[in-house]
Amino acid sequence: MQPIKNIVIVGGGTAGWLIAGRLAAQHQAHPNALITITLIESALIKTVGVGEGTWPSMRSTLKSIGISEAEFIKECDASFKQGSKFNGWVTGEENDSYYHPFVAPQDFGNTNLLPHWQAIGQSSSFSNAVCFQEQLCEHDLAPKQINTPEYAGVANYGYHLDAGKFAALLQRHCQHKFAINHIIDEVTAVNEADNGDIASVTTTSNGIINGDLFIDCTGFASVLLGQHLQVPFINKNDTLFVDSALTVQVPYHDATSPISAVTQSTAMTAGWIWDIGLQSRRGVGHVYSSKHSSDDEAQQQLLNYLAKSVENSVLKQVEIKKIAINAGYRARSWEKNCVAVGLSAGFLEPLEASSLIQVELAADWLCHQLPATRSAMDIIAKRFNQVCDHRWAAIIDFLKLHYVLSKRVDSQFWRDNKRAETIPQSLQESLQLWQHHYPWHHDFTHSDEIFGSASYQYILAGMGFMTQANYLSTESENIHAMKQFTQNQALTTKYLTHLPKHRTLLEQISLQGFLNTTDNL
Ligand code: FAD
Repeated sequence: MQPIKNIVIVGGGTAGWLIAGRLAAQHQAHPNALITITLIESALIKTVGVGEGTWPSMRSTLKSIGISEAEFIKECDASFKQGSKFNGWVTGEENDSYYHPFVAPQDFGNTNLLPHWQAIGQSSSFSNAVCFQEQLCEHDLAPKQINTPEYAGVANYGYHLDAGKFAALLQRHCQHKFAINHIIDEVTAVNEADNGDIASVTTTSNGIINGDLFIDCTGFASVLLGQHLQVPFINKNDTLFVDSALTVQVPYHDATSPISAVTQSTAMTAGWIWDIGLQSRRGVGHVYSSKHSSDDEAQQQLLNYLAKSVENSVLKQVEIKKIAINAGYRARSWEKNCVAVGLSAGFLEPLEASSLIQVELAADWLCHQLPATRSAMDIIAKRFNQVCDHRWAAIIDFLKLHYVLSKRVDSQFWRDNKRAETIPQSLQESLQLWQHHYPWHHDFTHSDEIFGSASYQYILAGMGFMTQANYLSTESENIHAMKQFTQNQALTTKYLTHLPKHRTLLEQISLQGFLNTTDNL
């Protein structure tokens, strides 16, 4: 019945500070709170320094830690992200693109518009027919106005941000607001108790630090869970081939260049390139499979891509950073009295920005399920691991979906991606089912599902997957569906008229913050 009072977080990247902030806000709010939080981070071991796209969930995470949205946007060079645009993923030809917006299809709680969109002959893309957000992004518009309250949106949105500045803001905020014991030092040894738990960690200058619960946020090194507890790593490179990233930061053409409000994701011959617009610069990265491309080829493709929008003189000076990616995850995220969060638990290619959201979900779980005693911890650990098992499998299915539906056969990378033995059984089964029934809520039964039926519908329809259902909708269903299409068009017109340019809104926020009056839309 040993109580859990002493929490030790090792690692001060985004994962470490997000967990620290959430736990402190939840468990130290009361003056008599019994929980102590220690965060140890090394000044010598750098954070990964990438991770620029978030999900909309980041809004409630930041709000719960008590960070103002205007401050976050100013401090982190942040911009609004309204989804992803996939270029060249279906055929690789000119004008091949589709959207995965954050706004769900019109009337999504009640009506499945996919069959009706198929029935009317798809004169416009699915995302355009059922959702106004694609048009906002095509016109570089913001998802809200200056007088929309903080963290509220006219259209659903997440963020693009500078990862280094974000970790620094979280650190400053947490140190200022909460009683977190912050130690800058290296963990050099992990010390075991008789029952195999972690009793303490040894640091270079601060000696031994004891704890009841250890949170491993040490990034790819996975110092506690991987190195010390030896929880096996499940490699997924046979399914998701991307194992290398080349990242670069480039300036805008000039101070008035539009800022894209989506992550641009452009397919290449052995991977894809992300292009993210922050306020002051773009962050661009080529992720690729080293089995299908040499580093030199990948770098040349990245430079060719940049050459379309960046001047030659600037291009000659850019610094390209290489990061190795090991697709996969630890067999158990929680072992004994140690839980890994962030890269220490695993990582899959950033195609749908699925990493930080897992940190947020883990932080939420820990806030609400923080074990009161050591014996409760085993039960909570078992449940947490079950949730993580499902989550990793679900993310892998969703990421692989983007590859298996492609019609590209122009390189070995794309051909290999469609080989049956590389496709998870669960995804093969879903695709088989969806040949005859339209994907819908019943296909996704877990709570906290990151990629639910709306996300699947956007990718399936965007990639040209058609369902041949054996039932017909009724006349009243058809009439209702037509009304939804019309309503979406009306909303599109309205928002195109009233929403500001993305750059304009960001500049206004930097100057004056949000006006925090009532949203007039
Ligand atoms: P890190 O940032 O690596 O931090 C590790 C911390 O542990 C550091 O503070 C370090 O000092 C400390 N540490 C390590 N060893 C020790 C030790 N022995 N003693 C003390 N301290 C130690 N995620 C998204 O959600 N969206 C994206 O668009 C996205 N893009 C990505 C692109 C790439 C190419 C990569 C590689 C990742 C991307 N990610 C993305 C993932 C994202 O970067 C991470 O989820 C996020 O940065 C959290 O990292 P972390 O805190 O777990 O690890």
